[in-house]
Amino acid sequence: MKLYNTLSKKVEEFVPFHEREVRMYTCGPTVYNYAHIGNLRTYIFEDILQKGLEYLGYDVKRAMNITDVGHLTSDGDTGNDKMLEGAKREGKDVFEIAQFYTEAFFKDMEKLNIKVPTIIGKASDYIDTYIEMISKMLEDDYAYISNGNVYFDISKAKDYYKLSGKNADDLFVGVRDSVSLDVHKKNPADFVLWFTVSKFENQILKWDSPWGVGYPGWHIECSGISYKLLGEYLDIHCGGVDNIFPHHTNEIAQSEAFLGHKWCNYWCHGAHLNDKSGKMSKSNGEFLTLTLLQEKGYSPLDYRYFCLNSHYRNTLEFSYESLDSAKKALEKLKNKVKSLDDTLMIEREKMTKYIDKFKESFENDINTSLMLTTLYDVLKADDINDTTKLCIIKDFDKVLSLDLEINCEKEIDSKLEEEILKKIEQRNEAKKNKDYELADSIRDELLSLGVRLIDKREETTYEII
Ligand code: AMP
Ligand code: ZN
Repeated sequence: MKLYNTLSKKVEEFVPFHEREVRMYTCGPTVYNYAHIGNLRTYIFEDILQKGLEYLGYDVKRAMNITDVGHLTSDGDTGNDKMLEGAKREGKDVFEIAQFYTEAFFKDMEKLNIKVPTIIGKASDYIDTYIEMISKMLEDDYAYISNGNVYFDISKAKDYYKLSGKNADDLFVGVRDSVSLDVHKKNPADFVLWFTVSKFENQILKWDSPWGVGYPGWHIECSGISYKLLGEYLDIHCGGVDNIFPHHTNEIAQSEAFLGHKWCNYWCHGAHLNDKSGKMSKSNGEFLTLTLLQEKGYSPLDYRYFCLNSHYRNTLEFSYESLDSAKKALEKLKNKVKSLDDTLMIEREKMTKYIDKFKESFENDINTSLMLTTLYDVLKADDINDTTKLCIIKDFDKVLSLDLEINCEKEIDSKLEEEILKKIEQRNEAKKNKDYELADSIRDELLSLGVRLIDKREETTYEII
């Protein structure tokens, strides 16, 4: 598996900490408004990454936060509190706003066939963890108190700019919004870990802390939730490119200061969806939602298909003309699939070639358009029959999730099951003896027969493909 890593600025071979297991963290929404379709593009990319890794046989443990406190309208420590803004706009309190938009977010995820991450952490539920981390950072001199707030001292971090490739002189060029001119900071890019001096008189969400009543900074929440839910070592951390600086940069600084070692190996960022006027943004109040697209007659999966046609690292410009083309193409694809004859004998041995091609496309830094091309190649192929095509497409749809409405049920008889279990046992034995060549050959042999092994921490299960 090859992935572009923002940290090294290179496409790298992906090697997780634990064999066949991936710990993945994806930054979640700030729930003060609906998600716009730009945000949703990022969640679709993360969904494909998770499902693709599962398709390759990894056991993916994924966590995501819901930001219901601490996010100001600038990504630095300036501007208004986003949650309070939402509450004011709608004449509700912050709890109602958070609940309403969290539910709206999960409805959008469901409509887009995005798998809900294994664990969801609400920022306001992890206050003790942030306090534990901040206390340690103060103790170890990574943080300091000034004018009542606790700040992270970026001059203490090891290579603070390694993720963004920026340097201190860049800070005020083009990213004016990302750092604040707060006179209480030692360095302009220092950031708040804990606010006790709030400029918001009506701040409702606040907690007691060793430094006074207050609330956490935005960046500490992801470091805290990830540490609590996924442990000290993270394989993949995702988000949109706007998260690289300052959010993810600050996450790395805090987590590594607290943990005392490298935290996350692979940083994957999705490029933005723009409208014609430029970046789509939630905070400027005008943006496209999934519901709006539905009102205009598009299905959520038309939008998913539209996103899959381009590479996640390329900026994508939204237009209704392009969405129309995606809608037509998806309709045609579904009709073609529906017209396939599902009564023929499945030629399992012929499936591998296409499945391998599909995997290779995914392994090539998540090349979704090539994955779709492979799907079209299956439809056009003249060396496999219709029912075999259906089985392959059904398998691909586990990752693509376009609801291709396939009827291709495969029976598994008990004799076959017995045979598979025997093979799994032989493979476990081979692994125990460190004979990985034999273990791999057993896995490949089963795969060529249409049986995919899924390695979990405690056991190996299988699925018929
Ligand atoms: P937010 O709710 O603003 O915190 O953003 C949620 C996710 O959407 C984050 O991963 C952002 O990086 C990402 N994001 C924000 N704007 C865009 C955009 N225009 N296109 C794609 N992703 C975006
Ligand atoms: Zn985050």
